[in-house]
Amino acid sequence: MEKIKIKIGNVEIGGGAPISIQSMTNTKTDDVLSTLKQIEELTKEGCEIIRVAVLNKKCAQALKEIVKNSPIPVVADIHFDYRLALSAIECGINALRINPGNIGNEKHTKLVVEAAKQTNTPIRIGVNAGSLEKDLYENKTLSLDEKMIISAERHIKILEDLDFNLIKISLKSSDIITTIKAYQRMYQKTKYPLHLGLTEAGTKRGGIVKSSIALGTLLSQGIGDTIRVSLTENPIEEVKLAKEILRALNLKKQGVNFISCPTCGRTQIDLISLAKAVEEKFSNLDLPITIATMGCPVNGPKEAAGADYGIAGAINEGYIFKKGVMIKKVPQENLLSELELIIKQDLQLNSL
Ligand code: SF4
Repeated sequence: MEKIKIKIGNVEIGGGAPISIQSMTNTKTDDVLSTLKQIEELTKEGCEIIRVAVLNKKCAQALKEIVKNSPIPVVADIHFDYRLALSAIECGINALRINPGNIGNEKHTKLVVEAAKQTNTPIRIGVNAGSLEKDLYENKTLSLDEKMIISAERHIKILEDLDFNLIKISLKSSDIITTIKAYQRMYQKTKYPLHLGLTEAGTKRGGIVKSSIALGTLLSQGIGDTIRVSLTENPIEEVKLAKEILRALNLKKQGVNFISCPTCGRTQIDLISLAKAVEEKFSNLDLPITIATMGCPVNGPKEAAGADYGIAGAINEGYIFKKGVMIKKVPQENLLSELELIIKQDLQLNSL
């Protein structure tokens, strides 16, 4: 089925566009300064679309300043209240996350959809396994992923009946298998872009594992157009993980790919500290290179031969290599500074 492309601000989604990274602010939306500061920080980390919760009139009024000053497109997350959706559109919001079946009566739904149509504001239908319609919730024969699909299709129909097709769909559950099955089924059925996410994924360690499995499985099958990793953490961590997932699947080349060995009895340097220091030093380098940090010169350079640059610990010294070829021997304590110097020279960088 031919997939359609929509645009949120200047970011294309679906129809073969690069997979974009989203996150959500956790500041009070009506605290404009704090919200913009967090958006700034997330943008620097690689976030491409930001969602803000719009709980009330004050938040809706704050959107004007937020949208005006945000470096990336802003999505308003609204539940139930059509008036907030209309205010958000008036404030120039780049997209809405609202389920048309939950807005209220038909007249209110029409008002919101008409306003979205006039302003080319896409709408994300966000189905959550935990908040399905009563009849689906009580249905004992359908599987949870089937219920989620039916719920999404009901919302899609409302929009399509109003001749609106700037649609994006998410089907989130906290269960990995349910989430994967729901997106796989939906992918077969729809032409609209899919926003991937796992809801209530948990704190950092568990959340990383669950999101990587769910999103990684789907993305590796070509399913998904934009992703939001959910963690009970600073949203910066969500963006970092989203980048790692895309990089690991070769779906995003930007930024350094760090590799390091797991250490073993041959390790000849404090590799754990060194690998962390390398990552910290080059984490802001927005170039598609691979840097390897290895524990010994016996296997290290060969194991990391695909890396553009690498360092390896040796007895009382360290080696620097390029594409698996050793280019310099230095004292261990100078490994990082020498590597920095070489990379700066090679890539003609003034600073990192
Ligand atoms: S690179 Fe060397 S130290 Fe690291 S795991 Fe391999 S053999 Fe062990």
